[in-house]
Amino acid sequence: MPWERVKNTVLLTATSPQLERDALQYACRLLQEGSLVAIPTETVYGLGADALNPKAVERIFQVKGRPADNPLIVHVGSLEQVETLAAEIPGRAVRLARHFWPGPLTLVLPKLDRVPDITTAGLSSVAIRMPAHPLALKLIDVSGLSIAAPSANLSGRPSPTRAEHVLEDLAGRIEAVLDGGPCPVGVESTVLSLLAEPPVLLRPGGVTLEQLEAALEERIIDGTAPLDHGEISKPLSPGMKYRHYATEAPLYLVEGQGERQLKQMLGLCEGFQVQGRKVGLLVTDETVPFFPRLLVESLGSRNNPPAAAAQLFQALRRLDARGAEVIIAEGLEDRDLGRAVMNRLRKAAVEIIKS
Ligand code: AMP
Ligand code: MG
Repeated sequence: MPWERVKNTVLLTATSPQLERDALQYACRLLQEGSLVAIPTETVYGLGADALNPKAVERIFQVKGRPADNPLIVHVGSLEQVETLAAEIPGRAVRLARHFWPGPLTLVLPKLDRVPDITTAGLSSVAIRMPAHPLALKLIDVSGLSIAAPSANLSGRPSPTRAEHVLEDLAGRIEAVLDGGPCPVGVESTVLSLLAEPPVLLRPGGVTLEQLEAALEERIIDGTAPLDHGEISKPLSPGMKYRHYATEAPLYLVEGQGERQLKQMLGLCEGFQVQGRKVGLLVTDETVPFFPRLLVESLGSRNNPPAAAAQLFQALRRLDARGAEVIIAEGLEDRDLGRAVMNRLRKAAVEIIKS
C-alpha cells in the first residue's frame, strides 16, 4: 500500500491519476463494508459512512462524540438519487438543485422509511445535498452509496478544512482520510427546510439567503435569527442548540463597525495583556496594523467575505496551535458569506461584545 498511516488511519493521497483511482477504490471498499472515511467536499471535510447502514452511522456519532439528537446530512451524486431517500420532492427542491447543485446547499425533505432513524436522529425528514468536490462525487459514483457525512472533527471543535485537521482530531479513530486538498468554501453548507411553505433557513452557509431568494423568486424565513450563542428555547434544527467550532482558548467576539469596534478590541486586548495572558487576534487585513508584534491571524480583506469564510476554521485552529491563551475576534458584517462566518463565530464565542 503506497499510503502513509497516522495512528493506523490511512491518509489516502490522490496526487496522480493512478493514485487517485487506487485511493477511490480503497475508500469505496471501506465505505461498502461499513467503515468510516473522511472525505473532501468544497465546504469542509466530512466524516463519511454508508447512510443506509445503521451500524456504520452509529460509529460516526461515537467517533465524533456527536449528540444522538443531531441528524446527519446525506450526500448524493444526482437529483435521481434523492428519489431513493426522500418521500416527496417538491418543485422548489428541483429548482434549487438545478440552480445550486453540485454545491453548498442542503435541502431538508420528508424521508423514506429506508433511511434509518439513526441517520436522521429520529426525525421524519432527511437533509440531502450534492457536494461540488470532484473526489466526493467520484466516490459517490464509484461506490453507488448515499454517504452520510457530518464535519470530520470532534464534536464542538472547529470544522476541518484540510486533511491534516481531520487527522488532528480523528487519527486512530477512523479507517481513512481521502486527501483532496484545502476546502475552497471553508464553511458548511446552507441548510434549508422545504417541509413547509415558505422555506425556512436553518443554517447560513456557502449559499447565501439572497441567492436563495433570487433563485426561488420568493421570501425565505430566516429561522436562524437572533442566536446569541447558547440555548434557544425551541430550535428548528437540532444542530442549532449546540456550542460549536470552539477553540481551546476562550474567544471574545467584538461585533460592530469602524472606530468603536476597533477601540473595543484594543481595550480588551490591553486588559488581557495586563493579566499576563497571551492574546491571539482574528481580524481583517485592515485591522492587522493596529496590533503590531502580537499573535495575529487574518481573515483577509473586510470587503471579501468569501475569503474570510475560506480562512475561518484554519485560522481558529492556528491560533490554538500558536499558543493563544485568549482570542479576540473581529466581527464582520452580516451580509453575503459574512452571515455564515458570523454564525460560526457567535457559536464559538464565550462572550459577544456589541460595540
Ligand atoms: P453537520 O453535519 O455537522 O454539518 O450538521 C448538519 C446540520 O444539518 C445540523 O445543524 C443539523 O441539525 C442539520 N440537519 C440535518 N438533518 C436535518 C433535518 N432532518 N432537519 C433539520 N435539520 C437537519
Ligand atoms: Mg459539524
